[in-house]
Amino acid sequence: MSSTIFRKGEDVNSFYNIEEEIGSGSFSKVYLADNLKTKDKVAIKVIERSQLGSEEALCLENEVTILSQIDHPNIVKCREVFEDTENIYIVLDLLAGGELFHRVLDKRVFTEKHAAAVLRPIIDAIRYCHDLDVAHRDLKLENILYETKEEDSMIKITDFSLAKIIPDDVFAITACGTPGYVAPEILEGSGYGKEVDYWSIGVILYTLLCGLPPFNENQNAELFEKIKTAEYSFPSPEWDHVSDDAKDLISKLLVVDPEKRLTAEEILEHPWMCIGAEDDSSSS
Ligand code: ADP
Ligand code: MG
Repeated sequence: MSSTIFRKGEDVNSFYNIEEEIGSGSFSKVYLADNLKTKDKVAIKVIERSQLGSEEALCLENEVTILSQIDHPNIVKCREVFEDTENIYIVLDLLAGGELFHRVLDKRVFTEKHAAAVLRPIIDAIRYCHDLDVAHRDLKLENILYETKEEDSMIKITDFSLAKIIPDDVFAITACGTPGYVAPEILEGSGYGKEVDYWSIGVILYTLLCGLPPFNENQNAELFEKIKTAEYSFPSPEWDHVSDDAKDLISKLLVVDPEKRLTAEEILEHPWMCIGAEDDSSSS
């Protein structure tokens, strides 16, 4: 079990020295900080209350509640939560290796072996979340972070601000996520379940292997039309040297009907994931 401490009424500054900003998102700023007692370096996600509407305030409560219940090696750990009248402070383990997004920008494309090694822990962490009925709902390259700068650093899923508890027989309705990664059933607005995360994993895998996203339109209206019909392709020359197994796995994730989309178990059993695993063990 995780052991998040809720420090209601205590001042974050008497526990931490908050330093420079190291990241930001739509409603938060993330800072590097030192634990005054242990000297540990941490990341503190600061959310300004005045920025939040009532729906976002609920999301924040979700993030804190869900993160405090989650304990997996590939999911960021939440250590403590502070609140004052202006802000909420979520103290997280520091992930100093940067976003997967930046590694894709640096490398342009990942080899299939490398992409499989990146994908495996993500699938494992999402399977763990789904077993707890938690859907992440905002999986993307920016929300997957490396623990250290090393090439073979552990990777961790972060940003549970849109995560939601969706039991198997319940459907969520709220439209959310990030345009290029959003699943068709979210856009259709008639209810969706945890399968939305597997669609996003399809988008992530496609992007890792060719350096460009599968759905890429300037206007959201056009983008959403393409997503709703899963209209994407494997253009030449970017995809010429990518294996048929990799394309097969992507095409079984970017499936409009969520019931026909592969689940975590099925992804892990797919031949492409297995080839990656054999390569890994023989090379290391
Ligand atoms: P938002 O919900 O506003 O998108 P995130 O939780 O995604 O906020 O954090 C925003 C950015 O801050 C991330 O994309 C990442 O670059 C950085 N960040 C978040 N958590 C950490 C962490 N634990 N360690 C280091 N950087 C982090
Ligand atoms: Mg984010």
